[in-house]
Amino acid sequence: MTERLPLRAPAADALAYLGPELDRIRAAGRHRTLRRFEGPAEPATTMDGREVLQFSSNNYLGLATHPDVIAAAQQAAAAWGTGAGGSRLLSGGMALHRDLEAALSELKGTEDAVVYASGYQANLGAVQALVGRDDLIASDALNHASLVDACRLSRANVEVYPHADAGAAARALARTGRRRMLLTDGVFSMDGDEAPLADLVRVANETGAILMVDDAHGTGVLGGGAGTATAHGVADRIDVHMGTLSKALASQGGFIAGSAKLCDYLRNVSRPFIFSTAPSPPAMAAALAAIQVMHRESDRVRRLLENADRLRRGLERVGLRVPAGRTPIVPVVVGGETEAMAAMKAVEARGVYVGAVRPPTVPPGSCRLRATVMATHTPAQVDRCIDAFRSATEALPALSPLEA
Ligand SMILES: *Cc1c(COP(=O)(O)O)cnc(C)c1O
Repeated sequence: MTERLPLRAPAADALAYLGPELDRIRAAGRHRTLRRFEGPAEPATTMDGREVLQFSSNNYLGLATHPDVIAAAQQAAAAWGTGAGGSRLLSGGMALHRDLEAALSELKGTEDAVVYASGYQANLGAVQALVGRDDLIASDALNHASLVDACRLSRANVEVYPHADAGAAARALARTGRRRMLLTDGVFSMDGDEAPLADLVRVANETGAILMVDDAHGTGVLGGGAGTATAHGVADRIDVHMGTLSKALASQGGFIAGSAKLCDYLRNVSRPFIFSTAPSPPAMAAALAAIQVMHRESDRVRRLLENADRLRRGLERVGLRVPAGRTPIVPVVVGGETEAMAAMKAVEARGVYVGAVRPPTVPPGSCRLRATVMATHTPAQVDRCIDAFRSATEALPALSPLEA
């Protein structure tokens, strides 16, 4: 019989420091509690027991509730089961995964694609596989947290260049390094602006750097759904395309698209691909169906961008400071944590939910209400959002435009 270890005495609570840490987070106005939705990611929903119009979902094309997408997920569960049961390298690789990878590489115009369990893992997996110690990464200051973590995990030297500054990226990459990589979001997740991809392609060519674009928010949105690089006319000049299945493609998972050699290499050395279970059959089938519906109902992409334009122009008319752009991400920057929370509550009191974003997601002092539109918002619903902001602005000086 094995001897039982004595239980740790309560006095030696190794997690005791969590209390003061949480107090510190609260004191900084950065404590978060989870909202509870009682329904799918649709414009009209119930949140914390109240009916609201939501402008906070990444279900951009509304495909998470499309009957064909739901049917595909249901059929896949019936035919393939609910879980893949293993890593792709062992037992989890089903025909469904390959079918989806073929559709993704076709969407991106590449030779092949590799699916991961999430976009976060795709970023970690690609960067860490492609560069390492002694290598050099130039990374945009506003890149998504998953790219920041990917840089850290790679152990490469990281030069963070000022947002969207291709000249600074070129200077950063001029330093020595065995291999060089240039990392950028296609559409920046908290500002909704687009990377200067044509300039970055030039910088990558001049410096011999690998160019990787995280297009989580561009896929299914720009370039007729193909993404930001297609919209900028440089899709064939991107070495590593990254995307997620969990936003416009209405499912869960992530992917890397690129050359056959790149994908072969990732399948062999990318740790999140090797050491994580293959994504579930219903998720794969849903993403595959979402791509098909996106092509068949191309009107959705058009309506999405029209809604984005309507919201931007409406908020500007109300006198709010909204960065220029065309993507469905429309941030209203209000300043500090207290102002952001008060602004969110004021808009919510008017029946519209727009999530507040605070540090560490955005830099201190740039807290914002980050509105996102969907193709399935009606113009009248977009107008109700604008009205909620108008009325909240009248009640709340914090929402008034900041000095630029
Ligand atoms: C959402 C997002 C990711 C992560 O994708 P998931 O599939 O949600 O893990 C990566 N990069 C950017 C820019 C994102 O917005």
